[in-house]
Amino acid sequence: MLGAMMKQNLLISDLIEHAGKYHADTAIISRETAGDLNTTNWADVAASARKLSSALENLGLEQGDRVATLAWNNHRHLKIWFAVSGGGMVCHTLNPRLFPEQFIFICNDAADKAIFFDKTFMPLITGAREHLRTIKHFIYMGGHDAEVAAALPGVVFFDDLILGGSDDYTWPDLDEDTPCSLCYTSGTTGNPKGALYTNRSTMLHTFAISLPDCLNLSSQETILPVVPMFHANAWGIPYAAAMTGAKLVMPGPGLDGDSLVGLIDEQQVTLALGVPTIWMMLLASAEKSGSKLETLRRNVIGGSAAAPSMIAAFREKYGCETIHAWGMTETSPVGTANQIKGKHLHLEDDAMVNLRLGQGRPPFGIDLRIVDETGKPLPHDGKTEGALQCRGHWVVDTYFGNESSSLTKDGWFDTGDVSTIDADGYMVIRDRTKDIIKSGGEWISSVDLEGIAVSHPGVAMAAAIGAKHPKWDERPIIIAVKADGAEPTEDEIIAMFADKVAKWQIPDAVVFTDAIPLNGTGKMLKNKLREKFGDTLVKRMT
Ligand code: ADP
Repeated sequence: MLGAMMKQNLLISDLIEHAGKYHADTAIISRETAGDLNTTNWADVAASARKLSSALENLGLEQGDRVATLAWNNHRHLKIWFAVSGGGMVCHTLNPRLFPEQFIFICNDAADKAIFFDKTFMPLITGAREHLRTIKHFIYMGGHDAEVAAALPGVVFFDDLILGGSDDYTWPDLDEDTPCSLCYTSGTTGNPKGALYTNRSTMLHTFAISLPDCLNLSSQETILPVVPMFHANAWGIPYAAAMTGAKLVMPGPGLDGDSLVGLIDEQQVTLALGVPTIWMMLLASAEKSGSKLETLRRNVIGGSAAAPSMIAAFREKYGCETIHAWGMTETSPVGTANQIKGKHLHLEDDAMVNLRLGQGRPPFGIDLRIVDETGKPLPHDGKTEGALQCRGHWVVDTYFGNESSSLTKDGWFDTGDVSTIDADGYMVIRDRTKDIIKSGGEWISSVDLEGIAVSHPGVAMAAAIGAKHPKWDERPIIIAVKADGAEPTEDEIIAMFADKVAKWQIPDAVVFTDAIPLNGTGKMLKNKLREKFGDTLVKRMT
């Protein structure tokens, strides 16, 4: 016997209808590519998304077609997301920071039919155009622009396109397993791989991340997603903001510390999300300007490990509680978030701080385990380290275009991370499998060493890598970038480790460099550092 309740497909179009109907006048603020601020609201985003979806149909686009975006976080991008997914097409967010060859590979691999782009990315578009084999429509995100028209014959202008759409368009009722969006991993090694999300997986992820024990979102928040919409769907925030009716503040191209501090203060942002490199710049700007980031109650840090000193700076100087979160493109992306349980409410300060440093617990819908090299599950005792695997409603099964599943035989996704998990489910990332430092058969977490190195006020950024060593195979060394005007010494930095890690884990050397190479999502490119600095110890011995 079946139950007798209404059956509705879980669809992205319902999100925007809800926001347009019940949070109509809630503001959506965005920094335009030209620098000015645009103000609109959920009612306009909903109406524009419907109109744009019908306009895309008029262009000949069909359900299932991939429609790419090469864009900052702004109101047009938001409208495109809902128009494309709501209409049954697949919104493919492209990362403009990729090398042009990777960008071309991804567009062709996804067989994108149309591409929306912001003015900033004109050079990328004109340079790559002849190699983009499947794109029929180039759509400029703005009004008519003579310069763009001259550089790209046949270009369509967003503001004209939308005018041709119908006000009476209604969303199609789709199967909830219809794909809605496509994101590629940033491919630090090899070609990027695509995760094809469904309406259902995205909706379940949206419910889960909004919950109090995850990101704790509501219509009372003013949310600033600094994390780009092209980085794992801005961690799901545009969808969750529509579900909860939050106010959104979209930073456009202004991702420097000063612009972000300005936006937070002017727009009274209560919650902001981004990767550690963004927060580093923001903290430096706030310090310089004297801003107290008065309204910012919480920030979410993910993408790479947040250093303990960064979490402490937000808490102690700005009264801002950090939610440390972990995820991957393959997990939509949120896999865990660090919120405390009721039983931890009265923990002593130190114990509380310590608990908040890790990456947190999985929300309902995600299950985690750690395994040894034979795939045998390891205990969740908070001490044993193992390969982190996950499964759940919004975890990838098969990469886009692949025939076979990427899961283990018993149905788990191997994350490529090494972690511990405790009995309450709190997970701590120790490292990426390929970055962990293997010294004489023992593992040393590069994350731990980096956290200590950057707690030195004279260090702006630090990476710990395994350098070749004749006796121990690898020994840890620190590659550090000095803070502006500071002159830290190698000995001073090494001394920081003395009472914080076991003696054999103390780095053998510190090498100063001008800049650490970052990938398209702001992560340190450790493979490049190993190529450049891997021989440091061997050279010092000769
Ligand atoms: P890519 O794998 O292409 O770099 P992702 O953005 O999907 O792109 O990266 C996922 C990886 O980022 C995770 O497997 C993990 O190694 C790392 N990561 C994400 N969040 C955190 C975090 N809070 N702490 C440490 N590492 C993290």
